[in-house]
Amino acid sequence: MKIYLDNAATTKCDKSVFKAMAPYFCEKFGNSNSLHGFGREASNAVIKARKQVADFLNCDCKEVFFTSGATESNNWALNGVAQTLKNRGNHIITTEIEHPCILATTEYLSKNGFKITYIKPRKNGIVKISDIEKAITEKTILCSVMFANNEIGTIQPISGIGRMIKKIRKKNKRIFPFFHTDAAQAVNYLDCDVEKLNVDMVSLSGHKIYGPKGIGALYVRKGTPIAPFMRGGHQEKGLRAGTLNVSGIVGLGKAIELVEKYQRKNSGIEQLRDYLIDNILKKIPGAKLNGDRKNRLQNNVNFSFEKAEGESVLISLEAKGIAVSTGSACASMNLSPSHVLLAIGLPHILSHSSIRFSLGRNTTKSEIDYLLKVLPPIVKKIRKIAEGIKIE
Ligand SMILES: *Cc1c(COP(=O)(O)O)cnc(C)c1O
Repeated sequence: MKIYLDNAATTKCDKSVFKAMAPYFCEKFGNSNSLHGFGREASNAVIKARKQVADFLNCDCKEVFFTSGATESNNWALNGVAQTLKNRGNHIITTEIEHPCILATTEYLSKNGFKITYIKPRKNGIVKISDIEKAITEKTILCSVMFANNEIGTIQPISGIGRMIKKIRKKNKRIFPFFHTDAAQAVNYLDCDVEKLNVDMVSLSGHKIYGPKGIGALYVRKGTPIAPFMRGGHQEKGLRAGTLNVSGIVGLGKAIELVEKYQRKNSGIEQLRDYLIDNILKKIPGAKLNGDRKNRLQNNVNFSFEKAEGESVLISLEAKGIAVSTGSACASMNLSPSHVLLAIGLPHILSHSSIRFSLGRNTTKSEIDYLLKVLPPIVKKIRKIAEGIKIE
């Protein structure tokens, strides 16, 4: 038996996405920049995919730029705006719970003349709009807040933050601060209409939405000053040079079209999430849910099991055929505790004993029942062993 509960790390490529991509490797292999029939075939496919993404975001096709994924989109959004506006302001606001690719970029910018304010979320894993408002100064050129957190699934008040920023711009008669959101985790479950969200830039990723890896997009609102990410070609209005990943782009377009269909019907994933949370709380003493109970992604369950080290629980679940994660995939490569869990005030010891279960489109009730059968004895056993070690 193999049960995949790590859909926040990546998702299985949908068969119909794969099918849509397949012709663009060996048959329709043209370069979308070429003027002949082969090229037109490819560029028409790119035009269609761009429209699919634009429809989902409710924006103009001209505002959609294809990238290699959310990491690139995030790097580009921050560096691109910082470069063009560095003479007008050197202050950037973000949060303590962003994905490492945002935090590494702000870290880099902080070594290159920028001042960064990291907003701390409240204990429930959600940032307060007023905390961001208070941090804004005349020098603030950019604010970047993720839509939904990848570790604990908490949903940030993006629309409200955007509205507040718009008001400040209007009051100060300025075009900045600009507002960016990393929506990689949100796309599957939340409305990403850029008008409703009041955002200037949005990052998204193909492989988090049942599409292929190595493709993503950055939405850039018309009028947002952004420097090129890669130079040396006319692709993507000269801002992101390089031959387009046509098959990946086709896959992303198809995947995002499917998301819209899934969002419209109630998939039951939220009920499954609540069933898992309720039963873990019932069956495992001392289990602590991380992140807000209600205001979280429909597929995210993150628990700390005190006195049961996360890695040990993960390995024991793996032996039972269940794939989960401790913190984020990137964070789990090193042994430092999750920055997200520390930011919401968890002590080190509890941050080391956290497990993320991220459900997906294909998760069934019987899989969750199996997890609920094997998990309590695993936690109990690991706690007993830890107890024994301490006595000696
Ligand atoms: C996965 C993820 C990323 C990185 O996306 P890639 O396409 O793998 O580069 C960035 N931000 C968040 C919130 C993510 O979940």
